[in-house]
Amino acid sequence: AQERYASIRDEPALTQCGTKLGLYMNAGLLADLPSLEGSGALGVGLFRTELQFLIRSHMPKRSELSALYARVMKASGGKPIAFRTLDIGSDKVLPYMKPNDEPNPAMGWRAIRVGLDKPGILRMQLQALVRAANGGPLTVMFPFITLLSEYRAARAELDKVLAREKILGNPLPAPLNVGAMLETPSLGFAPDAFFQEVDFISVGGNDLKQFFYAADRENERVRRRYDTLNHSFLTFLQMVVKRCADAGTHLSFCGEDAGRPLEAICLAACGFRSLSMRPASVGPVKHLLRRVDLNEVRAVMDDAWAKGDLSARDAVSGYLKSRL
Ligand code: PEP
Ligand code: MG
Repeated sequence: AQERYASIRDEPALTQCGTKLGLYMNAGLLADLPSLEGSGALGVGLFRTELQFLIRSHMPKRSELSALYARVMKASGGKPIAFRTLDIGSDKVLPYMKPNDEPNPAMGWRAIRVGLDKPGILRMQLQALVRAANGGPLTVMFPFITLLSEYRAARAELDKVLAREKILGNPLPAPLNVGAMLETPSLGFAPDAFFQEVDFISVGGNDLKQFFYAADRENERVRRRYDTLNHSFLTFLQMVVKRCADAGTHLSFCGEDAGRPLEAICLAACGFRSLSMRPASVGPVKHLLRRVDLNEVRAVMDDAWAKGDLSARDAVSGYLKSRL
């Protein structure tokens, strides 16, 4: 399928209205990195570090992790990579950690909650990332941040690691970008200080959607019941777009919806300028973006909602069929 889009691989994701988007890919293993080249992605917008922990039978050592991250950085050929710290718990249980019996693991002790309560693992991982960067660029993002105070606490762990590395005489990463994933509605309503303090925000649409609609992302019966292109969800996202713009904070979207062409153009029409998706989606998403005028898409969406439609899906796909 990637061959179909090979002709636009090195072309920008530039719309008919002259808006340029940044298309990135999601990854989790060193073996994913060659797709950067093939897909034409500008970098890795989400590197899910937990995959490395999940495929082992024992907790990886810091030196092993550091060597691995250095290889991932090298394989990217200078393209940026956003390393997400461990998102374990929920559906991702480490074989060598005591399973905790929780009735609602998705809303339980997971991701940064584990990282802040048991900072040993988080610090070890951050140190491995800092050492792998070896004085070069590093982008770190913390998963499942729900409050400003959690972001500050996570950032403080990173600052402790940096201070220690400095004392040891190891080079500090530069530039260093630190951000948060927005995966709970709560974070959208955080104080202005949150939007000002982070270097960037990445919307984890998979989790955000399940918590926004109170619909389990693993439950087939309710999963598809609520649409991404529903007025409520996109109105919320537009608020996030505006708050990031007001604070001058870089924003991207890295859930599965970013890789669906129809959803991607609607996200773009709501103001998103950076999307991260599975590598095979970069071509199809770029292909459609290059053919549309986002102002027209926006007008179709507003029109559909003004008529009371819950989702803009039918209207936008009808528009695309008639127009393209
Ligand atoms: C998300 O929640 O949208 C996300 C990108 O993270 P994950 O799918 O790994 O939970
Ligand atoms: Mg998530």
